[in-house]
Amino acid sequence: MDINCTEKELFVFNKIAHAAEELNMPCYVIGGFVRDKILQRESKDADIVCVGDGIELAHRVAERFQPKPQVAFYKNFGTASIRLDDFEIEFVGARKESYRYHSRNPEVTPGNLEEDQLRRDFTINALAISLNKSDYGRLVDPFNGITDLENKIIRTPLEPGKTFSDDPLRMMRGIRFSSQLGFHIEEKTWEGICAHIDRIKIISQERITEEFNKILGSAKPSVGLDLLYRSGLLHIIFPQMVDLAGAEYIDGKGHKDNFYHTLQVVDNISQHTNDLWLRWAAVLHDIGKPATKKFEAGHGWTFHGHEVIGGRMVPKIFTRLKLPQNEKMRYVRKLVELHLRPISLTKENITDSAIRRLLFDAGDDIEDLMALCSADITSKNKFKVKRYLGNFNLVRDRLREVEEKDRIRNWQPPITGEMIMEVFGLPPGRIVGEIKNAIREAILDGEIENNYAAAYGLMVKKALEYNLQPVQ
Ligand code: ATP
Repeated sequence: MDINCTEKELFVFNKIAHAAEELNMPCYVIGGFVRDKILQRESKDADIVCVGDGIELAHRVAERFQPKPQVAFYKNFGTASIRLDDFEIEFVGARKESYRYHSRNPEVTPGNLEEDQLRRDFTINALAISLNKSDYGRLVDPFNGITDLENKIIRTPLEPGKTFSDDPLRMMRGIRFSSQLGFHIEEKTWEGICAHIDRIKIISQERITEEFNKILGSAKPSVGLDLLYRSGLLHIIFPQMVDLAGAEYIDGKGHKDNFYHTLQVVDNISQHTNDLWLRWAAVLHDIGKPATKKFEAGHGWTFHGHEVIGGRMVPKIFTRLKLPQNEKMRYVRKLVELHLRPISLTKENITDSAIRRLLFDAGDDIEDLMALCSADITSKNKFKVKRYLGNFNLVRDRLREVEEKDRIRNWQPPITGEMIMEVFGLPPGRIVGEIKNAIREAILDGEIENNYAAAYGLMVKKALEYNLQPVQ
């Protein structure tokens, strides 16, 4: 083998080779598996391409294992897969593809290995290793993919315009690989992307978002996000993010470029976490800035309320991008809405009640919020950054102190809405909500103690304002 495989992988490839020989079917390991092995990246699945029927080969391979693994197959696509513990193997017959302009679905006809390699998106993804008896383990590299791997280059095997026009998702994939692997997109390939950005419109939102999320999951997402921006793809797939770009000047006063600031915040948070949703919160933390931007004479640029407007934009953006409409979305929205709060606590003389309020509002997401806020400090002035981060540590200490004392993080006020309804014989409604809020606010502000008796006392007092008496 020209690549470094584990014992288990070699064992499996050996079985595949024998099954293919029995069927007299040339076959090869191809694509991402070969690429990742050479790059010494982890690979959990392998694609096998054979000159013949991939489904038939998969069944023949499965028979060689005890217990026999299930073969999942898709007749329409001519693909099959088997899973051996955590190693997934996909089988497909070598094919030629020809594309129609308005569809991403090509006409597929059987082909040979060379034709199959030609339909691959990038030279580094077209590498194949023979599993045939005559040349077992030989690397088949018709487009100098190895050289491109060594030089860290993304390049299409065909004329780039054809590759991208045939399947425009490849533009996103190219940028994704550049971001994940730290590779450079070769000039002609890059020009091909820039010339075909409009074609992305034929791709489904789910697939676009899947690639976007992979870019966001890379070690330094700014690489891919900036390429999306510079190619013009971002303008089509996520225009709200493009609106952050640029700095305006009035009377010699400018503001920072919020697009590049956002990229910096995303990179910062990515050093701290792999969590996709915390990274999304970084992408969106300032998304409300363009809509709230004002120039105030004598004062400069302001973005008042951008966290509120930004929070409101989150569900719309999640819907448009077909991201989940569940607790992940609510989490991102919450972080966007709260992202200025810890900073406001770095001023002097901050009361316990302000700290309690933040703990109450952030709940279990307080650590993530603090991480986002630290990532948001992107000043070029090292002393400033040091001072801010120092202040932040003070806020962290205060949060810890107050939480230890008051246990506010997952706190619920001692009197619930149901209790209020029961005591006063009320139906659900505005008054119940108002009494409940008054109790919560009084406890958070430290006006009454955080216990049942004090809360009950305030409930009765507040109810009197509505001429309500406890019913027996
Ligand atoms: P990853 O596993 O990180 O997503 P990958 O691209 O290698 O990366 P797949 O998406 O499973 O994994 O693709 C496997 C192989 O199929 C690729 O290496 C490439 O050869 C080919 N391929 C996948 N998508 C396309 C595409 N849109 N156009 C051309 N070839 C593709």
